[in-house]
Amino acid sequence: MHSSPYFELIVPIGFGLLGIVLLACWGVLRQQRFLPWMAAGYVLPALGLALQSAMSNAELARWSLFAGLLHMSGCWSLARGLTMRRGQGLRLWPGLLIGAATLLALFHYGWVDDRIGQRALWLSAGVAAMLMLPLGSVMRGGTGGDPLERLLRIFYVVLLAYSVLRVGLVAWVIPFEEIPRLTRSGYWQVLLAGTLVFGIGFMCILVACAVRDVIRVLRKERDHDSLTGLLNRRAFTEIASARLQDRRLAPWTLLACDLDHFKQVNDAWGHAAGDQVLQTVARVLLEQVREDDLVARFGGEEFILLLGRAGPEAAVEVARRIQAELARHHFDAISGGVTASMGLAPLASAAELQQALVEADGQLYEAKRAGRNCIRVLSPATASPAVEMHGA
Ligand code: GH3
Ligand code: MG
Ligand code: MG
Repeated sequence: MHSSPYFELIVPIGFGLLGIVLLACWGVLRQQRFLPWMAAGYVLPALGLALQSAMSNAELARWSLFAGLLHMSGCWSLARGLTMRRGQGLRLWPGLLIGAATLLALFHYGWVDDRIGQRALWLSAGVAAMLMLPLGSVMRGGTGGDPLERLLRIFYVVLLAYSVLRVGLVAWVIPFEEIPRLTRSGYWQVLLAGTLVFGIGFMCILVACAVRDVIRVLRKERDHDSLTGLLNRRAFTEIASARLQDRRLAPWTLLACDLDHFKQVNDAWGHAAGDQVLQTVARVLLEQVREDDLVARFGGEEFILLLGRAGPEAAVEVARRIQAELARHHFDAISGGVTASMGLAPLASAAELQQALVEADGQLYEAKRAGRNCIRVLSPATASPAVEMHGA
C-alpha cells in the first residue's frame, strides 16, 4: 500500500484534538470528572503514535519503552475514565502489574534482543489486558433501555474485541520481521485509519453521554424543590397535564394541603426545625399515595397532590390517612405532631387542571376558616362543598 507521511500524522493530531475537545467539555461540564481521564486516554496514545510514526525500525527499538509507557498510561486512563463514569473506582495494582510486565518485555525486545515482532505482540497484549480492566464495571447492571448507554457498551466491547484480535493478528498473521519500515507499512495505515474512525465515534458518544447526564441533573434540579425533593409547581403542572391524558388513571382528585400554624413551629423550635418538619411531611405524603400519584410543594408549607383512580370518597380516605399519620408521627425536631388542613377538588381532564387548583385552594381556605385540621371537598356533581369532615 502506498503510504504518506502526512496520513500518519492525521491520527496523532486528530486524537490530540479529540482529547482537547474532551478537556474543553470538562471545562463546561465540571461534574463529569471522567472526561479528563478520557482526554488523557486519547492524548497519551496519540503522543505514542506520533513518536512511532516518525521512526525507522531501528529508532523504534530504542524508543519502544517510552512509547509503550505512553500507550499503557493512556489505556489505563481510559479504563479509569470508564469505571469512573459508572461511579466506581479502579484498583491501581492490576494496571501497574500489566504496565510493568509490558514495559519489561518492551525493554528486553528493544534493548537486549531487538525483535520488532515480539515488541508489537507484547504491546498489543498489554493494551488488550489494560482495556479489559473496566469490563466488569462497564457491563454490570442494566442500561435501562438507554440507547446512549447501549452504544457506549457496544463501542467498548468492539474496542476490546479489536484489541484482542490484534494480539492474534500480530502473533500469527503479520510478518513484522520482513517489513522494512513498520510505520510505512500497510498494516500501520489500516491500524491508523481504523483507530481514527473508531476514536471519533467513541468520543462523540462520550460527549453525548456527558452532556445528557448533566442535562439530567439540571432538569432534576429545575423540577424539584431543593428542601423536600418534591416536584415544584412548574414540574407538577407539566407532569400532571401529561398524566391527565391517561384515561386509565381516571377519576382524579386534586388535594391541596397546608400545615396549620406552621409559623408557630418556626417561632417555637427554630427555622431549621421547621425545615426538618417539612422534609418529614414530604416523606409522609409520598408514603401515603400510590406511585402514579403526584406530590408537589407549591411553596412554603403548602403541598399539592394529584391522586389518580380516586373519586371524592377515595381521595378523602387518603386525606384522612395523611392527617392521621401527621398527628401520630414523631418529629425529631419538635415535640408532638403537626396538623394540616386540606381542600379537595375533582377533575376530569388536563383542561380542568388550573380550575381544579383554584377550587382545591378554595376548599383549603374553607377548611382553615372552619377551624383547621379538617378536610373540605368540592362535590363533582354540584360543584359546591358537599362533604365536611373534621380530621383526627
Ligand atoms: P395557617 O394555619 O393559617 O396556615 O398558619 P401558618 O402559620 O401555617 O401560615 P402562614 O402563611 O401565616 O405562615 C407560613 C409559615 O411557613 C411562615 C414561614 O415562616 C413558614 N415557612 C414557609 N416556608 C418555609 C420553609 O421553607 N422553611 C421553614 N422552616 N418555614 C417556612
Ligand atoms: Mg399554614
Ligand atoms: Mg401557607
